[in-house]
Amino acid sequence: MYRCYMCKKLIEKIEENRILCPYCGSRILEKTRPPTVKILKAR
Ligand SMILES: [Zn+2]
Repeated sequence: MYRCYMCKKLIEKIEENRILCPYCGSRILEKTRPPTVKILKAR
């Protein structure tokens, strides 16, 4: 999942060979992790 650096919209699907924002056309995207919380238990 990516987030556009310019318009801050989340982009779920993106083609790996064509990374640009479908909303504003920006090519600066942040890679974000899905908003699932991973709970690690300490051993
Ligand atoms: Zn954008």
